[in-house]
Amino acid sequence: MRIKGIAAAEGIGIGQAVRIEDVVLDVAARPIADDDVEVARFQRALHALMEETQALADELAAKLGPKEAEIMEAHVMLMSDPMITDEIEATVRRDNICCEYVIDNVYKTYADMFASMGDELMRQRASDMMDIKVRLLQSLAGVRPVDIGGLAQGSVIIANDLTPSMTAGIRPENVAGIVTQVGGRTSHSAILARALEIPAVAGAAGALDAIKDGDTVIVDGSAGDVFRDPDKGIISAYKAKRTVFLADKKELGLYVGKPTVTLDGVRVELVANIGKPADLPKVLEYDGEGVGLFRTEFLFMDGGAGDGAAAGTGAGTQPAAASGRTAMPTEEEQFDAYRQVAAGLGGKPVIIRTLDIGGDKDIPYMGLEREDNPFLGFRAIRYCLARKEDVFRPQLRALLRASAFGNIKIMIPMVTCIEEYRAARALIEDIKKELDAEGIAYKKDIQVGIMVETAAASLLADVFAKEVDFFSIGTNDLTQYTMSVDRGNSKVGYLYSPLQPALLRSIRHIIRTAKDAGIMVGMCGEAAADALLIPLLLAWGLDEFSVGASSILRTRKRICGYDAGKLQEVADKALSLDTAAEVEAYMRTVVEG
Ligand code: PEP
Ligand code: MG
Repeated sequence: MRIKGIAAAEGIGIGQAVRIEDVVLDVAARPIADDDVEVARFQRALHALMEETQALADELAAKLGPKEAEIMEAHVMLMSDPMITDEIEATVRRDNICCEYVIDNVYKTYADMFASMGDELMRQRASDMMDIKVRLLQSLAGVRPVDIGGLAQGSVIIANDLTPSMTAGIRPENVAGIVTQVGGRTSHSAILARALEIPAVAGAAGALDAIKDGDTVIVDGSAGDVFRDPDKGIISAYKAKRTVFLADKKELGLYVGKPTVTLDGVRVELVANIGKPADLPKVLEYDGEGVGLFRTEFLFMDGGAGDGAAAGTGAGTQPAAASGRTAMPTEEEQFDAYRQVAAGLGGKPVIIRTLDIGGDKDIPYMGLEREDNPFLGFRAIRYCLARKEDVFRPQLRALLRASAFGNIKIMIPMVTCIEEYRAARALIEDIKKELDAEGIAYKKDIQVGIMVETAAASLLADVFAKEVDFFSIGTNDLTQYTMSVDRGNSKVGYLYSPLQPALLRSIRHIIRTAKDAGIMVGMCGEAAADALLIPLLLAWGLDEFSVGASSILRTRKRICGYDAGKLQEVADKALSLDTAAEVEAYMRTVVEG
């Protein structure tokens, strides 16, 4: 059986299915017949969870040391707090109502109370409360979260969707492929799958119904095909395809050490997108000329700095959070991570983006509330400016301090109006003064730029260009906000393309405006590695291409094959077309000859 989806991460994976189903926990108020029985149910679930958590703490202490076990030890203490357990039992008896409903309410109340206290330790407590609540409810429902980090070798993950933190918890050596029912090429889980070099297909509707645990599955992440129980012929055909894919990958090795320059001598910068310092070796292996986008939110999702800090079980019904953090990385931890990357690249440019959470990137302990339209809501710079003192300032301080160790540039995401940029810049200037007073070194002339990824920022490019040091075009969001298409919604995925005439006009306008103002303009959205778009970007004069590490060499090969001068005509023709289909058909003739 074949399921058609969207090619999300290239390569061929063959292995055994492991299904991961979302769990909806029922916390509706159900009347009960016998309060003794209900209280005993609660007690059993609580004690089982306490034992399990204590065992986890002991295991962590033995494996990593007592410090790593502290969070789990604290959970055991919180679980046994009589103030909470007494309140749950008394409410069950008083209201004759099921313990799920009471647990949900009581833990939420405590979590809200801790969260409102404002200091970091108390917020940590709030997330601990939410975590315990979810695990207790799971325990009562008989649901066991999947240990995503502990999957057997050759597993093919089949899920409705994977949160970025789930994907970050995957061990690539064990996972042969990923299939999700929803999402598209630019969902964050797809971006991570590419970074991990795991073949992935997104938008494979019906996969969870069609595929059972243990089924043999082929994932063709280059074509977007999934095969369940393929016959011998198909398996050997795909094994052969995998061999060709791997050989082609090897051939690209010839481009290591070559400059990224067109046939007529136009030199561009070819840099990488990363999510944590651990991604750096790949950037160096594939000869990246720097980093054009460091998505710092991934430091907030897992250990990030490679310090094994992740020890919590996280909140939420998704198994993923199993490897996630339960508190914000401190200024010191962030400083370490940024310094590692800056120093590791020895003076090459490193553009670090400030925290971009919200949208499809929830981090349970950061206190984001559910929103009807999260992509249009409280995210990125909007969130950071509302959390200036406890979230934004420590991150900017860490960035400025790390700038003494390399060529760091700061980038602000999701900007829609100049006031947001000015507020961020003012805070940076304020922190510079603070560091001067403390005698701490930093790069005095550090550049601060913006992601141009909203329709507003594109339209106002001239206003921004007067004040910012550089632009980086975020086509993943720019496409979503220009076309009014949720980037993860496969139903409307047919509209989501950077080849849409509206996008081409927007991109050309942004590049031209930056050139007129004399500032650097790059692109860090997935479109920077799009074979059909590269000729147009070269024609318009894009200065910097920032792509996933695994796409660096292929992108270099493509760029090196063009004569930029000759592409002007191609760009004019592409811009004259009315539909994305026409642009695509035309660009195919250009690229494929
Ligand atoms: C973008 O929007 O194009 C981008 C690079 O940022 P992200 O994918 O993290 O939203
Ligand atoms: Mg974006």
